[in-house]
Amino acid sequence: MSFDEKIDVVGAGLVGSLLSISLAKLGFRVQLLERRPDMRSVKIGSGRSINLAVSVRGLNALKEVGLESTILEKAIPMGGRLIHSPEGNLHLQRYGKDDSECIHSISRAELNKTLMTAAEATGRVKIQFEKRVDGLEGLSRVIGTDGSASAIRKAMGVRTTEERLDYGYKELEIRPGPGGAFAMEKNALHIWPRGRYMLIALPNFEGSFTCTLFLPFKGTPGFDGLNTPADVENLFRQDFPDVMPLIPELTDQFFENPTGQMTTVRCFPWNKEGKALLMGDAAHAIVPFFGQGMNCGFEDVSVFSKMLETASDWDRLFAEFSILRKPNADAIADMAIENFTEMRDKVTDPAFILKKEVEKILQEAFPGKYASRYSLVSFSQVPYKEAFERGVENDRLLKQLCDGIADAKNVDLEKARSLVTSLRGTK
Ligand SMILES: Cc1cc2nc3c(=O)[nH]c(=O)nc-3n(C[C@H](O)[C@H](O)[C@H](O)COP(=O)(O)OP(=O)(O)OC[C@H]3O[C@@H](n4cnc5c(N)ncnc54)[C@H](O)[C@@H]3O)c2cc1C
Repeated sequence: MSFDEKIDVVGAGLVGSLLSISLAKLGFRVQLLERRPDMRSVKIGSGRSINLAVSVRGLNALKEVGLESTILEKAIPMGGRLIHSPEGNLHLQRYGKDDSECIHSISRAELNKTLMTAAEATGRVKIQFEKRVDGLEGLSRVIGTDGSASAIRKAMGVRTTEERLDYGYKELEIRPGPGGAFAMEKNALHIWPRGRYMLIALPNFEGSFTCTLFLPFKGTPGFDGLNTPADVENLFRQDFPDVMPLIPELTDQFFENPTGQMTTVRCFPWNKEGKALLMGDAAHAIVPFFGQGMNCGFEDVSVFSKMLETASDWDRLFAEFSILRKPNADAIADMAIENFTEMRDKVTDPAFILKKEVEKILQEAFPGKYASRYSLVSFSQVPYKEAFERGVENDRLLKQLCDGIADAKNVDLEKARSLVTSLRGTK
């Protein structure tokens, strides 16, 4: 393998741009082909969500290319979920054991632009904009990072399943208050759980919040029943009354902004011999409820770059990468679907709240021994598959400890100690 070979990367989104930096740092020359114009000079929608949450896996990959602190400077830490009840009461569910464990809200466009500029600054990456790629012809060794509807995946003829959720999403903006003030608690991910549907909001650096309404496409309520300003106002008046005054142009925004759809894409293998490989959403698009799609794609880049450093053969490298990552991508895809029910429904269920409180006590009482599934996914680099399996073991343990108690303070810590020692992470 020659380390000054030219590699074609298709798609200068988040994963393709980061991958190009990594390849360039290893000495490769990269041609990065992007179908959209350059978002640094032309105002275009950044696609998908306005902002997103980056956690440890994503931050680690950014650190490896020297960009973690640059990105964190423009991010807002979120220490937990702030639950808004229909009556307007607030309840914070912390994500980690303390303030050091938080996820960070960042602007998708800012992140993408920073990555593109850093890629070009290596002197080894040439980005070609407005270049839509339709197949593998004319390309050299190619890595497809062209998102969930990947043209490269189709051209490779890979076995693929696409599972569309029967829910859509709509983004709405809460503008900054006077002097850039945040209209709600700044350091939290806000959730208005309402059973079958929910609204969430993530803070933006300049004082605004991006809200996302997740609703079934069909039903009551559903996007198909929201056809007039009065329909939208009625929904918000009934379910999200504290949000209404924060978005004076609610109905204008509702009808101007597109309704997005969410799909889980699973495919295998991710490679065509040593000629083509898929990464990021092109290989494994997932629903957004664990905030891990990009994090998983960034982890792809980190894992691949390490494997590349010691690889001697492209065929083997591409095949081994695909085999190693696939079970982890499947695990986070499943956890993301599960987390939707947790966010929109379970967070208000007393049995779930008790379980979370007992879990918090265990994390504090047995540091390094007990870790929640959320922590394993968001604050560690334990493979997703292992996080999934340990989550199942945790659940069994929590059921035993919560049985017969109504208050987390009454948890039997001696019993907990012996149960925790039997967990896999403690061996
Ligand atoms: C509502 C929502 C919220 C989300 N929140 C989070 C979050 O909080 N945390 C998180 O980690 N993830 C989140 N995600 C997931 C995250 O957005 C994706 O996982 C991430 O964008 C994947 O990056 P990518 O580079 O693989 O693909 P994309 O971001 O889709 O980029 C693909 C790029 O390829 C280009 N392209 C496409 N086709 C072609 C072609 N034929 N030729 C050339 N170029 C092409 C596109 O223009 C684009 O630039 C969220 C997703 C959604 C929908």
